[in-house]
Amino acid sequence: NQMKFKGKRAWVTGASSGIGQATAKALAAEGAELVLSARRAERLESLAEELRQQGADVHVESVDVSNRSAMEALGERLASMGGVDILINNAGTMPISPIINGRVDEWDQMIDVNIKGVLYAIHAVYSGMAERKRGHIVNVSSIAARTTYPSAGVYAGTKHAVRAISETLRKEAIRFGVRVTDIQPGSVDTELPDSIGHDKIRGIVKSNMYGDEASMLRPEDIANAVIYALEQPQHVDVGELLIWPTRQE
Ligand code: NDP
Repeated sequence: NQMKFKGKRAWVTGASSGIGQATAKALAAEGAELVLSARRAERLESLAEELRQQGADVHVESVDVSNRSAMEALGERLASMGGVDILINNAGTMPISPIINGRVDEWDQMIDVNIKGVLYAIHAVYSGMAERKRGHIVNVSSIAARTTYPSAGVYAGTKHAVRAISETLRKEAIRFGVRVTDIQPGSVDTELPDSIGHDKIRGIVKSNMYGDEASMLRPEDIANAVIYALEQPQHVDVGELLIWPTRQE
């Protein structure tokens, strides 16, 4: 059988749209069994149905990654299924705005989803991977893990944190045979700008992003990068991948 991930179980967070959805499709096409999570259950169900019709084994979990007890309960359910081989730690939100505007609820939201949510998902699977001495954790950070822009302060702070967590986890996980990859996309054409609550900033981001589609990546481009990292032999760990649209500065 030529399929790359036959017999592997992969959990994709934020699978209801964008990069997570594209990655779920790519994994299913390569034979992986899937656990799909996000808040919007209907979206997950329709994706699951599509993938099942193509022969995939798909399990759906409607859960908010920032809900610690719900994530712990999901971790226990996954452990009782035998754990997961691959975590695509992708759920994220980007309600950016200038710090002067003091949109504190949105700061909390980004910290809760983009940092705490990433940690809760790692916590849900990592000890099982360590026991089985195998596993691959792929965290989706951003180019905002390496640089920042006006209005992106808190978002970039969360993504710098994800990158730091990835780098630390990779070093710690070596002795367990667990690999860690940090994926850093540039602009990707997804629903992410819809999470911006600041009307003017949302308008600017959307007109920049959608004004010139050729200057943006598609979710499938990031799914390809994830597959590349996952398909390497066990002795190779792709630590990080920075993927720009060719025309993005
Ligand atoms: P989308 O908005 O299309 O997807 C975001 C996903 O995260 C959705 O499935 C959403 O599902 C899920 N999500 C958001 N909040 C929560 C929550 N509280 N609990 C559970 N799931 C949640 O955006 P992208 O596909 O672009 O984003 C995916 C990742 O890629 C994010 O981490 C983002 O920061 C990162 N990224 C994106 C870039 C881009 O240009 N698009 C660039 C660099 C990084 P639901 O709403 O159903 O819960």
